[in-house]
Amino acid sequence: MAGRIRDADIQLVRERVDIADVIGERVTLRNAGGGNLKGLCPFHDERSPSFNVTPARGVYHCFGCGVGGDAITFLTELDGLTFIEAVERLAARAGLKLTYEDVDGRVQRGPSNAPGLKQRLLDAHTAAAEFYTKQLLSPEALTARQFLTARGFDRGAAATFGCGYAPDSWDALAKHLRAKGFTAEELNTAGLAKPSRTGNLIDRFRRRLVWPIRDSSGAVIGFGARKLFDDDQGPKYLNTPETPLYKKSQVLYGIDLARKEIAKTGRVVIVEGYTDVMACHLAGVPMAVATCGTAFGPDHIRILRRFLFDSESADGRIIFTFDGDEAGQRAALKAFDEEQRFVSQTYIAVTPGGQDPCELRQSAGDAAVRELIERHTPLVQFALERAIAKHDLDTAEGRLHATRAIAPLLARVKDRGLVEEYIGVYAGRLGKEKAELRRAVQGAAAGQQPEAPEGPKRVQRTDSTQLRAQREVLKVALQQPQIAGPYFDAVDSTPYTDPNYRAVREAVAAAGGAARAAAGPNWIAAVQSACSEIAAGALVSELAVEELRLAGEPDGLYVRTILARIQRPVVEAEVADLKRRLQRINPSTDKDEYMKLFGQLMGLEQHVRSLRDQAANAVE
Ligand SMILES: [Zn+2]
Repeated sequence: MAGRIRDADIQLVRERVDIADVIGERVTLRNAGGGNLKGLCPFHDERSPSFNVTPARGVYHCFGCGVGGDAITFLTELDGLTFIEAVERLAARAGLKLTYEDVDGRVQRGPSNAPGLKQRLLDAHTAAAEFYTKQLLSPEALTARQFLTARGFDRGAAATFGCGYAPDSWDALAKHLRAKGFTAEELNTAGLAKPSRTGNLIDRFRRRLVWPIRDSSGAVIGFGARKLFDDDQGPKYLNTPETPLYKKSQVLYGIDLARKEIAKTGRVVIVEGYTDVMACHLAGVPMAVATCGTAFGPDHIRILRRFLFDSESADGRIIFTFDGDEAGQRAALKAFDEEQRFVSQTYIAVTPGGQDPCELRQSAGDAAVRELIERHTPLVQFALERAIAKHDLDTAEGRLHATRAIAPLLARVKDRGLVEEYIGVYAGRLGKEKAELRRAVQGAAAGQQPEAPEGPKRVQRTDSTQLRAQREVLKVALQQPQIAGPYFDAVDSTPYTDPNYRAVREAVAAAGGAARAAAGPNWIAAVQSACSEIAAGALVSELAVEELRLAGEPDGLYVRTILARIQRPVVEAEVADLKRRLQRINPSTDKDEYMKLFGQLMGLEQHVRSLRDQAANAVE
């Protein structure tokens, strides 16, 4: 049985620890006069601060939800620590040594004199981070050092961010930590090592560049590890699994370094990777953070809000940077489904030429990164522009489709003033009366398609056999990813003519692809949460249970056949397009171009033939 901590020690912890520091690491606190501080309550959702801290008395209290207590209570409530763990954590930061007693007040020694689990896991992480940092200097870590240098990170940068190297060994870290007194169970629970098939403990990360992931108070709670060698069979990035310390839905890499700047500037910059966080901070954008191995979600918003929003700066801005690729844009649009205050405070910065901030810094320097962040566009405008870009505004039909595309987006914005503002802007661009666009938005809000004011022009319909095949492909991918996986992933979203089907196809990709998902138990949920449209999410549940259109079990042949069926029209259209282009070229004056297109045509025609053969398989 673990002992009690001596009362006198607990008292000392309460006296020595500055509650404003402890809470300030998790909530931005402002001076409220009378020796009080206030901020947004981390225990309930609120818009104006009713969470008060009185440093002189070492207590906090929320007038909104009624919670209150001292620094110890705060950690038990917010971080889910036990009382003992909270005291240990505070004692560690105040440099106090604790004494443990048994029930009769006798001082305990030996293994029962052990700190709580969470503190042990934190200690193990601190020791692991030190180990990895030292390894980065070893001869073996040359590739890791070269990786950093090649991205513009010098020794100082590596030290600031605690970059390290996991050596080429099955158990170097495990042995090191075992020698320091950590048990196999602790290392397993911490996600630092895991039992191998033979029962030996092996390191989770090997031959990788590692970044320590810290919580907002600066404590290391996990690691991100990047592949360095081509013969490394693992994914490009590996992260600590879910542990008592590490919850990926809440982790923000860089938050420990960024939180003060976030509070000061009222801005937070969300980037995609560890190197992007480093590049931004070094380039003079110290409010940059990144999610680790997961998409930005509601938990991240809740955590950021505590640092970002308060009554004085109601216009806190969350700026997402994207390299303009499809996945990034989808992630941005997904933010639409979050709460409204978030939507109106979300901004998008798209890097030029598909570069990420790290690449941008290397190619164009620090100033270019700062400019990128300065040039941010409101999320709503970004989404509207993207929806419009798919249509030709020079034609009446294009303008009609563009109207239909933006109406549902505007219908989702609850801020009436904002909607009116955009209606004003876009009515002009689309050559419509404001009233007309407003009606379209209202129509979309009521779940209706906006009426076609330009006559009953029919959109070209894909025939029903095609749609049925597209549906079938998605069903197999959702229901049998272990069979459909690689075939399904190899075909992009182009053949999916129905926008909802296409959305599901893109959600599968955003969820990591069907092949990788085959192992995971929460596959359907992962796809659903990757859907940017609510309608697509509902469709996923439907497709996940709808019976397949074949009698027996599906196999690879079945998957290839239905995939060939949906690809054929796409490739045939490409062939027709190429033939038209070839006809316009004069082969005698433009021989190179002609031969190039001709070569492409031959290749495509062969592709059509093979698709035709595959699609003709009698599998249905
Ligand atoms: Zn509260």
